[in-house]
Amino acid sequence: MDAIKNLNPNAYRYLCGISREKWTMAHDGGWRRGVMTKNMSECLNGVLKGARRLPISAIVQLTIGRCVKYFFDRKERITYMVANNQPWPDFAFHKYEKWSIKSSNHSVSRYEISDKSASVVTRGRLGHNEHVQVVNLSTRDCSCGKWTIFGIPCSHAICTAKWYGLDPMELMQPWFSMHRYVKTYEGRFIPIPDEGYWG
Ligand SMILES: [Zn+2]
Repeated sequence: MDAIKNLNPNAYRYLCGISREKWTMAHDGGWRRGVMTKNMSECLNGVLKGARRLPISAIVQLTIGRCVKYFFDRKERITYMVANNQPWPDFAFHKYEKWSIKSSNHSVSRYEISDKSASVVTRGRLGHNEHVQVVNLSTRDCSCGKWTIFGIPCSHAICTAKWYGLDPMELMQPWFSMHRYVKTYEGRFIPIPDEGYWG
C-alpha cells in the first residue's frame, strides 16, 4: 500500500475505502484462483466485443449466437480431450505438464515425514541453486503460492510428491476433473421459431 501511496495518493485514498478482499488476491482467502479481472463484466465484455451501440434486439441475437458458438467449440474440444484420455481440461493440463517438466530440475534438501513437508531446491539454467520453497502435502500448501492460487500442484509440490512416492496427479483440485468440465457445457440451446408461431 505504501508503494501505491507514493505513486498516487488519490488512488491510495480511493483503495482505502474498499475492503482488501474485494480487490486483492493476497487477501481474498484464495477464492479468485488466479483470476486477475475484478468482476464478471470483464468476462462478458470479452465475449461480446463488437456488440456495443447496436439495437437491443440485435444485441440479444448476437449474444445468443455467440453463446451457442462458445458452447459448440467447447463441446468439440471436450470430444478431443476425452478421446485422448486427457485427465483435466486444457488450462489445468497444460500448466501441470509445464510444471511437471520443471520439477525434474528440483531436489528435496530437507524433509519432515510426519506431515509430509519438504524444502525443495530449484536450479537455474547454469545449475546454480536459485530458490528454496517449502511444501507441505498435509496442508496442501507451497511457499511459492501457486498451488493455493491455481489449485494446480506447482513444480515443488510435484517434486515433493514424487520424492514421497505419491502420485502427484492426486494433488490436483477435484473441480478440474473432466467430469465437471463436461457437466459445465452439457446444456442445450433449443431453437426458437419466428414470433408468429409462438403460442
Ligand atoms: Zn511451489
